[in-house]
Amino acid sequence: MIRILKKPLFKSHFKGGLLFRYTNPASSLAPVTCIVSIVALPIIFRLFNSPLSGKLLFLYYLLNTLLVIFLFKSYSNNKYRLELQKQKFQEEWNIISEQGTKDLKNQRVFNERIDRFALLKDIIEDVAGDLRLESVVKTILDTAFTSIGKKRGNCLLYLIDSQTQRLVVFGSRKQDKNLIIKTKEGDVFDSWVQRHTSPLLIEDSRRDFRFDPERIAGRKSRVISSLISAPFKTEHRLLGILRLESPETGAYSQEDLRFLMTVCDLGAIALENARLFEKTQELAIHDGLTGLFTKAHFLEHFEVEYNRAFREKGELSLLMMDIDFFKIYNDKYGHRVGDIVLKKIGKLATEFFKSCDATVGRFGGEEFCIALANITQDKAHSLAVDFCKKVKENKVVLRREDTGVTVSIGLASLTKKVSDAQELVFAADQALLAAKRSGKNRVVRHLN
Ligand code: GH3
Ligand code: MG
Ligand code: MG
Repeated sequence: MIRILKKPLFKSHFKGGLLFRYTNPASSLAPVTCIVSIVALPIIFRLFNSPLSGKLLFLYYLLNTLLVIFLFKSYSNNKYRLELQKQKFQEEWNIISEQGTKDLKNQRVFNERIDRFALLKDIIEDVAGDLRLESVVKTILDTAFTSIGKKRGNCLLYLIDSQTQRLVVFGSRKQDKNLIIKTKEGDVFDSWVQRHTSPLLIEDSRRDFRFDPERIAGRKSRVISSLISAPFKTEHRLLGILRLESPETGAYSQEDLRFLMTVCDLGAIALENARLFEKTQELAIHDGLTGLFTKAHFLEHFEVEYNRAFREKGELSLLMMDIDFFKIYNDKYGHRVGDIVLKKIGKLATEFFKSCDATVGRFGGEEFCIALANITQDKAHSLAVDFCKKVKENKVVLRREDTGVTVSIGLASLTKKVSDAQELVFAADQALLAAKRSGKNRVVRHLN
C-alpha cells in the first residue's frame, strides 16, 4: 500500500514536495483487529453459551497472541525502515545545506567581483582624461582604501623620486586620522617590492620567514600584522608602490591582491601620463638649462605685474640683461663651458634679487630679464649696477685659469608715459642696446 504524506517529513528540505512511504497493510488494521478480538469476541461466545467456547476461546487467544507478535514485528520493521530513511534524508539535508552555504559564499564573492569591476570602470573613466597627478593619486587611494581595505588599517601610495631613485610617500588614507607615518621612504616590505618589482601578500608578518621579525616588531604605534602591496610599473621602470596594511592578521586575500594589481596596472598608465603632462608643463614654464622662467611665461607674469602696478599706482622696473662677447667666450672655451656660465649667471641673479621679490627669466640665448616690483627706479638702478659688478667678480676657473664674463643691463621703469607692458619691455631693450653701444659691462636707464 502506498500512502502519500501530505506534509513533508523535513520541512525546510522538501519544501513543496511529496513523500511516498511504504507500509504494511496489516499494521494499519492492527489496532482495530486487536480491540475487536480481545473485547468483543469473548462476549459473543459467552452470549451464545457455546459448549465449544472454552477450547475455541483458547484457540482464539492463541491466534490473537500470534497475530499481536506478528503485528509488533512488522511495526518494528517499519520503524527501523523509517529511521533509516530519516538518516538518509538527514545526510542529504547536510550535503545540500553545505552546498547552500558554499553557493552563498560564491555569490558573495561574485557580487564583490561585479562591484569591483564596476569600480575599475569608474577608475578608468576618472583617470583616463585626468592629467593632474594629485587627482590621479586621490582616485587610486580612495578606490583601494574603500574597496579592498574597507576603510580599515592604512593605505599608502609611494612614488619613486626620479633623482634619488628612492620611495617617497605621496599620499595616504588612514583609519586613524591622527596616525603619523614615520617611514616616509618605506620600510622592509616596500624595499622588498621595489627590489623584486613583484606583488606581496603577508597574512601574518610574525610568521613570514622573508622578513626579520625584529625589524617589524619595533613599531608600537603602527602594528602591521597583514599587508598587500603591488608595484606601479610601466614597460621600462618602476613608478611607485601601492600598499594596504592592517593590524589584524589575515585581513587580505589573494583575490584582494589581484584586484590591487589591476588597480596598479591602470594607475601606472594614468600616473605616467600625469607625470609626462607635469613635465611638459614644467618645460613650458621653466627653461631646461637654467631652470628660470621661459620668455613666454615671464611675459605672461610680467603683464599681470604691470596691470597690478598700473592699477595701484605702484613701482615696477624691468632689467634686460645680455652677456657681453659671449660668442667669443663660447668659441674660446667651448659650448659646454658656455652652458655652465649661463647656469651660473641664472643662479647668481636668482640669489641676488631674491630679497626684493624679483621674477627672473631667460629671455632666450644669453639674455635674461628681471622684473622688480615695489622698489623705486633708483633702487632698481643701484641693484643693477651692483649685479654688474658681482658678475664681473665671479670667476669661472678652467684648467687653473680664471675666466669670466661681464653683462650689460638696460633698465626701464613704469612711468605715466608708458601705456602697456610691451612698451616697457621695448624700452628696456632699447636701454640694453644703448648699454652695448656705449661700451658694455654697464647699466643704462631708459629715460621715458
Ligand atoms: P654682444 O656682446 O654684442 O652681446 O656679443 P655676443 O657675442 O654676446 O652676442 P652674439 O649675439 O653675437 O652671440 C650670442 C652668443 O650666445 C652666440 C651663441 O653661441 C651664444 N649662445 C646662445 N645661446 C646659448 C646657449 O644656450 N649655450 C651656449 N653655450 N651659448 C649660447
Ligand atoms: Mg651677448
Ligand atoms: Mg644677445
